[in-house]
Amino acid sequence: MTGTSVEVTSPVDGRLVGTVPDQPSTQVADVVAGLRGAQPAWEALDVAGRTRWLVSYRAWLLDHGDELNRILQSETGKPWAEASLELPAIIDQLNYYLAIAPGLLKDERPRPHGLLTATKRQLLVRRPHAVVGNITPWNFPLALSLADSLPALIAGAAVVVKPSELTPLTVAAAIGGWDEIGAPPVFACVTGLGATGAAVVDAVDYVQFTGSTRTGKLIAQRAGERLVPYSLELGGKDAMLVLADADLERAANAAVWGGFANAGQMCTSVERVYVEAPVYEEFVGLVADKTRELRVGDDAGDYTSDVGPLVASGQVDIVGRHVQEALAAGAKALVGGNRGEGPGNFFEPTVLVDVDETMACVREETFGPTLPIMKVADADEAVRRANDSPYGLSAVVFSRDAERAESVARRLDAGAVNINDVFANLFTLPLPMSGWKQSGIGARYGEHGLLKFCRTQAIVSARLAPKRELQWYPYTRARGTVIRRATRFLGARDLRRRLGG
Ligand code: NAD
Repeated sequence: MTGTSVEVTSPVDGRLVGTVPDQPSTQVADVVAGLRGAQPAWEALDVAGRTRWLVSYRAWLLDHGDELNRILQSETGKPWAEASLELPAIIDQLNYYLAIAPGLLKDERPRPHGLLTATKRQLLVRRPHAVVGNITPWNFPLALSLADSLPALIAGAAVVVKPSELTPLTVAAAIGGWDEIGAPPVFACVTGLGATGAAVVDAVDYVQFTGSTRTGKLIAQRAGERLVPYSLELGGKDAMLVLADADLERAANAAVWGGFANAGQMCTSVERVYVEAPVYEEFVGLVADKTRELRVGDDAGDYTSDVGPLVASGQVDIVGRHVQEALAAGAKALVGGNRGEGPGNFFEPTVLVDVDETMACVREETFGPTLPIMKVADADEAVRRANDSPYGLSAVVFSRDAERAESVARRLDAGAVNINDVFANLFTLPLPMSGWKQSGIGARYGEHGLLKFCRTQAIVSARLAPKRELQWYPYTRARGTVIRRATRFLGARDLRRRLGG
């Protein structure tokens, strides 16, 4: 950070890759005021009109994919294969929301539920929160910034994104594309540190936050003060359960990808593994062998690396602390265990055994390339230990017995469970992605991923309009008697009460 700007450096070698303004709260308020001014016309376009702009934006994103991926790689250090995966996910989500929006956003005219309201015409209207603030982290800068912004725009809201100060460049470039296609000025980016994010919370009508549990709690307090709604997608400590009848080869491949993809910097990374005793040794051997084969480094766009650097040196410190504390307490690193040599924020993919829940590497979110593996007597012990965590984002179960796997899944305290798979629920868009416990409030994807950006408005009109209704003034005994009799006649389900006085 220098004065009023934020410097963005490469995690690979520390070189400066760009700067963005560190915007104060006054500027954030101005941006939000501009969005607020433009939003009514955007809402008035209706879904079909807004869809036309989002279709143009989809074309812009597809045409500028490589350019965005290059910026993304420069500020995150991701292997090219991973830098190239964010856009496909976004395009899929955009198409999903565009397909479901017309049905979900249209007015509903419910029929009267009983005789008492038979003379009323009922209309349910969905209207957007005017300005949505979307505060996002650095691990998937593009995907997580657009994932919630696009459905909010489709719903008719204006959106301001506050990307992470560590990776703001791709998001700023992507939102620049919205201006480039000449779309209405309802999508903006503000940049800066945490204070800029706080200023967003102070100015908008709905807060969408993805990031750490610690910041999520601060945001919930601040939004609570203003009584604005919010949705929080927070941290995790996902457990993987490997039952004795699992396909161990697939389970080991899933554990290695689940633990080390994005250098372990995924909210849904596999961060601890519980293996039934009969297959523990074989599973650990497979995981260790596969981890040794991973290529760590910078591939500059050439698919020559599997694991990139961590985003910042502070993140390397956390991983280093978790590993060192575990080793000091008797754990063994079968593979890795050290920081990478030379410049950059690299940490070796690390497989830890002889670990337990007294250690930070099993208890706290590591958000780095570690895979602690533990032996358990049976599935009951695995479920008990998996649930013994403040987090509840997602989990993984491996077993060839589909029924048994599902019954284990139903006992896990997590918003999503992948069976014989890993990360699969991140792509099954009709299902909500929601963290339980300290992993979040609310959900993205599914109908909720769109409808959360709407307020429901009930419009009731009188079909018959006598001069006065029965329950209006004046209050008289005769009217009271009619209401009492009507209540019994309509409300009771037995003849005696219906007809009794
Ligand atoms: P973070 O909480 O440090 O920062 C996230 C964003 O919040 C950044 O833009 C930051 O500038 C902003 N911010 C910081 N203080 C703020 C404040 N007081 N008010 C408003 N905004 C503020 O998180 P991070 O380190 O960028 O991201 C990593 C975390 O995100 C991990 O815990 C990970 O599990 C979580 N995450 C969750 C999901 C999910 O979908 N559940 C997805 C990705 C990452």
